[in-house]
Amino acid sequence: MGVVPNDDLPVLGDEQVTICDDRNQVVFQETNDRPAFRISPGFLRAVREKKQIQVRRGDAEAIGLVFTGKNGQRLVIVTSANDRYGFSKLQRLRDILFFDWLFSLFIVGMAGWFFASDAIRPVSEITAQVNAISATNIHQRLRVGRQRDELADLARTFNAMLRRLEDAFVNQKSFVSYASHELRTPLAVMLGQTNVALMQPRSSAEYVAALETVEDEVRRLISLANGLLDLARANADAATIHYRPVRTDELLWQARANLIQKYPDYTIEIDFDNLPDQEDDLILPAEEPLLRTAFQNLTENGCKYSADHRVRVLMAFTADQLQLTFTDQGVGISADDLAHIFEPFYRAERTKELQGHGIGLALTQRIIGLHSGQIQIKSEPGRGTLITIRFPLL
Ligand code: ADP
Repeated sequence: MGVVPNDDLPVLGDEQVTICDDRNQVVFQETNDRPAFRISPGFLRAVREKKQIQVRRGDAEAIGLVFTGKNGQRLVIVTSANDRYGFSKLQRLRDILFFDWLFSLFIVGMAGWFFASDAIRPVSEITAQVNAISATNIHQRLRVGRQRDELADLARTFNAMLRRLEDAFVNQKSFVSYASHELRTPLAVMLGQTNVALMQPRSSAEYVAALETVEDEVRRLISLANGLLDLARANADAATIHYRPVRTDELLWQARANLIQKYPDYTIEIDFDNLPDQEDDLILPAEEPLLRTAFQNLTENGCKYSADHRVRVLMAFTADQLQLTFTDQGVGISADDLAHIFEPFYRAERTKELQGHGIGLALTQRIIGLHSGQIQIKSEPGRGTLITIRFPLL
């Protein structure tokens, strides 16, 4: 057995080579003063069992193996050492990896923060622009970039919503000014009449005439207030409307009776086409007073805006819908007026001398909508008007 040449292991410290025989007696040992690895009988037994074993205890590493000598003697060779150089390299590698990991974590964090803020910047810009829009500058729009991504879509959607809001806002504003105007006119007439009547003592006939004018104006005001109240009610949330089964033909007859009582010179013809076999098919879920008001408005307009004060109402049924048509041969509505006819307070120039407030059709359209119906107007100036409303039958 030769001596292990130390020169081959220049970097290992506390090297130790020990050879033990069968009885665990040391037959050869090369060691220094501070053996790094203590060889126990248990370790030697384990080497003999497994032929070769490699262990690490603290900083020391050892390898034990069984060797059969020339005379058949089984020897256990144990070499151990402290690989300080290897360990320090490992330690350094661990430090490098740790600091590299920290550094890359920092770089990834910074890059993430940079890219995230770059990606979120357009959202922040949109938020700032939206925050800057209020009732006073509702005409402003968000800047839409040239890119075709989701954020540009979002800005376009916001702009579309702003357009709708602006329309509603402008309508609301003009609604208030029209309503005030409609209220002011009869009030001014009443004030004028009372001032004139009170200026000097008058005959009782003159007082009666003044009071009759005031009464007319009060009636106008009441009808306007009722129309506005109905409009407010019809514009309220559909959930607040109480729908009950209502016979539509009866509503039509009631509307006719109310109008004839008020205007005996009106002629209102009601016809039916394709009447259903069962009476139940005449029933719609409806808010009775509102639907009657709608029928009454359309019938009244037909009579009011035609020289013969005549309207024909036809109630027709198909398998899945109820259709009512109101036909008159009156003054008709021009195409320009038709575009605005459902706006509250809109009145065609040619009908201005006839009494009215211009809220009947706006109210009617809203009521028909609340009953899942549709309204359509066809008209030819000088020839007459045909208004069709359709309700789905359940
Ligand atoms: P009002 O009748 O009180 O003026 P409406 O809202 O019912 O209010 O009608 C708005 C306007 O539409 C009327 O002023 C009139 O110019 C026009 N209009 C409505 N119905 C008819 C019709 N059948 N024939 C001609 N013009 C009509």
